[in-house]
Amino acid sequence: MHIILIVFLLFLGASWGSFLNVIAYRMSVKKTFISGRSYCTHCKKSLHWYDMIPIISFLALRGKCRFCAQRISAQYLLAEIGVGLLFVLGGMLIVDMLNISLYIIVVSFFTVLFIYDAIAYLVPDRVAIPGIIIIGLLNFFILRDAKSIIFGGIIGGAWFLIQFILSKGKWVGGGDIRIGILLGVLVGYPLIWLALGISYVGGSLIALVLIILRMKTLKSRLPFATLLLPSGFIIWLWGSQIWQWYVGLIS
Ligand SMILES: [Zn+2]
Repeated sequence: MHIILIVFLLFLGASWGSFLNVIAYRMSVKKTFISGRSYCTHCKKSLHWYDMIPIISFLALRGKCRFCAQRISAQYLLAEIGVGLLFVLGGMLIVDMLNISLYIIVVSFFTVLFIYDAIAYLVPDRVAIPGIIIIGLLNFFILRDAKSIIFGGIIGGAWFLIQFILSKGKWVGGGDIRIGILLGVLVGYPLIWLALGISYVGGSLIALVLIILRMKTLKSRLPFATLLLPSGFIIWLWGSQIWQWYVGLIS
């Protein structure tokens, strides 16, 4: 891919990531995302346009507010770089318009849910439910395989619903059921099994590292959606190849 296209996609994605981060942040503090201009969360002063250029403004201000010098959370920079890189990845992998629209929608819903869960340990229904419907429908227009999408959603949801009932809501929350359905209607059946499996192995490893580093204890709750969403995304893009590689290993 041409370097100019890479830089263009990186900045397009970074701007979009900046917007998604604001949506997730404002929703998590119970504001509507259309209310008002961007402002410093510490001193409440409105930001100039040149303080809102993705990545560059953060680096130019060295991560501090121009007015009050309060540190700006690195979350802004991470969301911008993260979505920027995802746009570059999308440009490398995907060629047709229908798949590009699904890709942008998936990246958007996943990013908002990921950030929201990371800061508030909660999966908001007003994001998760529209996500399930829009992604499920668009996926149907692309795959034309209603069985795979519906079964995927049922297995993904049932997997967490059973744990939710067995543990009376202690192991997993209601939000995890919605994330399970969301991943299911995206990756379909049978890849949903792989997405669930990888998120469990990955989640256990991350939890183990955090416990060893004494950042978390066995009793602390992990933001589970932040583990499920990336593994579901990876399985959506490369699940078939991973599955073939795995079958090749064991046969
Ligand atoms: Zn400030």
